[in-house]
Amino acid sequence: GVADDRIEGLLEEFPDHPEPGVVFRDLSALYAQPGLLAGLAARVDEEFGGAYDRVLAVESRGFVLGAALAARTGTPLTLARKPGKLPGPVHSADYSLEYGMDRLELRKSAIAPGERVLCVDDVLATGGTLAAAAQLVRDSGAEVAGMAVVLELAGLGGRDRLSSHRLAALCEVP
Ligand code: IMP
Repeated sequence: GVADDRIEGLLEEFPDHPEPGVVFRDLSALYAQPGLLAGLAARVDEEFGGAYDRVLAVESRGFVLGAALAARTGTPLTLARKPGKLPGPVHSADYSLEYGMDRLELRKSAIAPGERVLCVDDVLATGGTLAAAAQLVRDSGAEVAGMAVVLELAGLGGRDRLSSHRLAALCEVP
């Protein structure tokens, strides 16, 4: 997999995107690395072993990572969607972003009670998004086995906010 000390050099910083005061890290060059997914899978394996029954991937960039991880480990994949996409009864969880509010939704039948679910997204910033994903898991009567991201923006307090969960990050920047 791509070595974590190489990842930082592949991140591109955009000050004031998508709004003033936010430094946005663009991961495009990192996604282009063929070793990224193997690196994430190895990191997740190190942290959690096989101790989860399902991968829950967060729209949109979490889909890419979660799908690859689920395929590599032979684990069922479920998608947490942005509002209004899913038919039928849904659980929904509102959260605030660095830049505004958003909501995640999950079909009520998607996750069986008691399952151990690994929540996957690309970036951990304030932790609001993964906290919402965890809420959807709990609303389903299931359990959060852990969380995994490619990049942790350590200065934004996400890990503290999610401190009741184990969290694997492939790379961390201040
Ligand atoms: P949080 O909810 O504040 O932890 O923000 C994490 C969510 O926002 C993830 O779904 C990310 O895709 C996105 N995000 C926040 N900051 C960045 C960034 O600097 N680069 C890329 N995505 C980001």
